[in-house]
Amino acid sequence: MTTDQLLRQTLLRLDGLGYKAYKDIQGSYEFPGFALHIDYVQGDPFAAPSRLRVVMPQSQAGFPAETWQSRSREIALRDYLTRQFGRVAAAVREKRGSGNSGLIAIAPTSQYILERSALWVTEASVEARFSVGLPARGRQILGRTAAELLCDDLPLIVGRSLLYASLNPSELQRHLEVAEDADWLRDQLARRGLVAFVPDGALLPRQSGIDDRPLKESSAVQFRSPDSLRVEFDRPNQGPIAGMGIPQGVTLIVGGGYHGKSTLLRAIALGVYNVIPGDGREHLVTDAAAVKIRAEDGRSITGVDISPFINHLPQGRSTTSFTTENASGSTSQAASIVEALEAGARVLLVDEDTSATNFMIRDRRMQALVAKEREPITPFIDKIRQLYQDYDVSTILVMGGSGDYFDVADTVIAMTDYQPQDVTEQARAIATQFATHRAAEGGDQFGSLSARVPLPKRLDSPEKRWEKSWHGGRGRGGNRPTEDDRPERSPKLKARDVDELVFGAETVDLSAVEQLVEVGQVRLIGAAIAHIQQHSLDGRRPLPELLRQIAPQLATAQIDRLTPYPQGDLVTIRPLELAAAFNRLRSLSLKEK
Ligand code: ADP
Ligand code: MG
Repeated sequence: MTTDQLLRQTLLRLDGLGYKAYKDIQGSYEFPGFALHIDYVQGDPFAAPSRLRVVMPQSQAGFPAETWQSRSREIALRDYLTRQFGRVAAAVREKRGSGNSGLIAIAPTSQYILERSALWVTEASVEARFSVGLPARGRQILGRTAAELLCDDLPLIVGRSLLYASLNPSELQRHLEVAEDADWLRDQLARRGLVAFVPDGALLPRQSGIDDRPLKESSAVQFRSPDSLRVEFDRPNQGPIAGMGIPQGVTLIVGGGYHGKSTLLRAIALGVYNVIPGDGREHLVTDAAAVKIRAEDGRSITGVDISPFINHLPQGRSTTSFTTENASGSTSQAASIVEALEAGARVLLVDEDTSATNFMIRDRRMQALVAKEREPITPFIDKIRQLYQDYDVSTILVMGGSGDYFDVADTVIAMTDYQPQDVTEQARAIATQFATHRAAEGGDQFGSLSARVPLPKRLDSPEKRWEKSWHGGRGRGGNRPTEDDRPERSPKLKARDVDELVFGAETVDLSAVEQLVEVGQVRLIGAAIAHIQQHSLDGRRPLPELLRQIAPQLATAQIDRLTPYPQGDLVTIRPLELAAAFNRLRSLSLKEK
């Protein structure tokens, strides 16, 4: 390995040369206290930036074992250091030439404490992966500026962000404790018969629909649990905490429009993640297998058994293996529920705002006008209890629009002026007083759930691409791929923000997968689907087994095995989100039942 001095000399020598000459600096350098690895050098100043890593031995970094020894703390420490590196880099950085010249950046972070491939801490070392825009004027190397960037600024950033001694110890401690306590609380839920916990004093509203930071304290109403639902926990680090426990079973959130129902449900949906201190939702925790469900007309559905909800479609279309390129609101919602169950969901979160009305309700008058035989849909109201009784899957449902659901709820929470009340008894009394006289349409049982088996076909639909060029007349000619064209090379992958994945020839719309919070998660989904396609699609293994096999690699140091080289821009996901994306691939094909 050569030294930082040699790197400086090389950069000065490259000054004024064409940009391609930067390739010379690829390699490893010994800096005082850490090693710098220049893994990939960009081809020109406007291309994706260069990829670098810093590896600092623990003898130098000095993180005490208690900061990383539990899994919760390790993830929180890595999250904290990523933020610190990002903050310091942003403060030091200045634009130094054309394109992304002068950029030093680590993966962007959000309100959530997540495991990211940008930063690693082990007993032996601390490793940061980041990108650098190597400076140029036009396409000419600015060697002196590059030397300042890599040999002066970088050691400064590293020194201020990766050394334990240079950090704020109490702030770091808080970060670790908040995360560890949140994980502990989430683990306690099932033991207490709960699916979610919302602490007293929590601040749920966000600044805006596109800004996930907390609403300013002066205008936000703090959450306060009704006494009847209040539970207490004694956290390992931060001691006693009280708040509202949402029991297993069927829970309704009712209340007037604009009184905070959806805000509460959204906070619960994101309670599968830990948040950073100061977020306002610290220690609001939800069952780790809770899935937000919504209607999504237009999505594609492949071979899903939606027969618990939908039967006798026009033209005799099968609903035990339902396939469409263009789902309706109700079929999309039915399919999303069945898919979530297949992928292991334990709790469903449903909001009337984003549901198909005919999927949710069918009242007595409509039953009288349109006979059951002419209505393919069995509404959710007739299935929601069976889901709990037969499969132990709970539901939290925001429903301000129909009191018919009082009949099927275990718990009813009313939001009034952003505050919850327990109105379960009242709702029961009302249900008795004003009987709906609806006929239950759901039968005795929810219905069977069966796992689907994906076929080993390229998922990025080469057939479709081929067909395009074939029929478009611009084709290269030659043979069309066969049905069982086994994949060899990786498909093109690109994550466009949190709601779109480009996978080969296909663009997958993930905007309805509401529990994705960072673009790095979409990137990991792409890498994971490519990995499944290349290594485990064999036409025999059902989807849940494919998910089980890959699960360990989604959330540990094994993340690196999913990509051809170590990437710093991946963020952990649950198998549930992977399944959601997989199910939305238009090129998915299944073994016939
Ligand atoms: P609903 O679903 O009951 O119609 P929302 O949850 O959409 O109502 O909330 C309506 C508005 O009130 C939103 O702009 C939201 O940010 C705001 N809001 C929600 N909860 C609070 C709160 N606790 N304090 C202040 N504003 C809130
Ligand atoms: Mg709402």
